[in-house]
Amino acid sequence: MFSYLCAYIATRARAMKTDNTILEEAHVGWGEDIFPKLSWWKQHKVSAARVMVVGCGALGNEVAKNLALFGVGHLWLVDFDKVEYSNLTRSVLFTLEDAGEACHKVYAAARALRRLNPNVEVMPLVADIGTEVGLGLIRRMDAVVGCLDNRKARYLLNRLCMRAGVSWVDGGIKGMEGVAKVFIPGKNCYACTMEPGAWKELKRNMSCRELIKQDVEAQRVSTTPVVASVIGAVQAQETMKLLHEEETRHGELTSLCGKMFYYEGQHLTSRLIEHRGWDDDCPVHDKWEPITVHPTLTFRHTLEEALNLLEEYLGERGARIVLRNQSWVDYIEQRSDGRKVQVMLPESKVARFITDVLELEQDEAEGFYQHEFRVIGADFPYGSMTLQQLGVPDMDVLHVRTDNGEHFVELASAQV
Ligand SMILES: [Zn+2]
Repeated sequence: MFSYLCAYIATRARAMKTDNTILEEAHVGWGEDIFPKLSWWKQHKVSAARVMVVGCGALGNEVAKNLALFGVGHLWLVDFDKVEYSNLTRSVLFTLEDAGEACHKVYAAARALRRLNPNVEVMPLVADIGTEVGLGLIRRMDAVVGCLDNRKARYLLNRLCMRAGVSWVDGGIKGMEGVAKVFIPGKNCYACTMEPGAWKELKRNMSCRELIKQDVEAQRVSTTPVVASVIGAVQAQETMKLLHEEETRHGELTSLCGKMFYYEGQHLTSRLIEHRGWDDDCPVHDKWEPITVHPTLTFRHTLEEALNLLEEYLGERGARIVLRNQSWVDYIEQRSDGRKVQVMLPESKVARFITDVLELEQDEAEGFYQHEFRVIGADFPYGSMTLQQLGVPDMDVLHVRTDNGEHFVELASAQV
């Protein structure tokens, strides 16, 4: 009875404390020596770390939860989906209210993570990783964690990480099985480990017809909270190793890089499988360097302004921007009768335009030819459009071609 009473009084006393006191206590809780028995643990590295978690589904929930408990200082969350009731069975960060309000997953997760560890700075981004997250932001990360449910998103994330020279941890779950892998630029590349069958599937998945299909029937993978916990935990652990790069190099820790961790829960099988690939001829893992940061040019400038600013900045003439993430489409044309429909959108938005605005079925959409631009310069007919309208995200790195050569120029952030 006495101990019960003490516990009750302690709980009441805690509830009456001001937010500041609780924050101070939390700071003590996540101060130095939080994992004192780990010889390799360097809290200052973890507290200063910037980690991006891409995908806030079952895996993303587990990874972000663990990273917050570890005290990773700065977390970026990327996802464009909203919380649904069906997510609640395997998402520790989401509530019934989040599903009821159809809250964006990144906002719901950010709220829960701040409650879990008030020392962590959480930045939610409602965005598609393939086209809406600037390379300039990715290259500022110490590590990226992919919690994705399809090959195309993994392929695009890998491409960004390799261009930026940032290591990333991949996780995948299906049913009661899951895998985790680590990709480090110069050692291991997701695209280089893809089998011919996987390339075929990827090509099919990136075709217009498939994009429409994926849009209509958003992919659903059945899985369990347990397999998400296991794989998410391994991913978080491997992320810690990437943050302790020096300790891993000295052999205090062993990275998963070059191997794949496989787990199967039904009959309890787990193993490490060789999984390494780095082909020097792979066009997907070219590192963009050197990257210089333009002091004023942002994605809100028009193309005309951007070209002038770039020529002035580089001291070279004839600047063109090479759209490396996606092309830009001004119209689509009916193959059979030559009928043209104005689109004026980045490639990634065309499939939705065809289904939602034109209200065409998949088969009808197949009958259109897409008129697109990949390199845009002074002769581009829509120079008054902003870089943002042309599909360039905030803080992206532009691939600029001039009469003298190639350059990589990062846009200044448009956020005040
Ligand atoms: Zn590669």
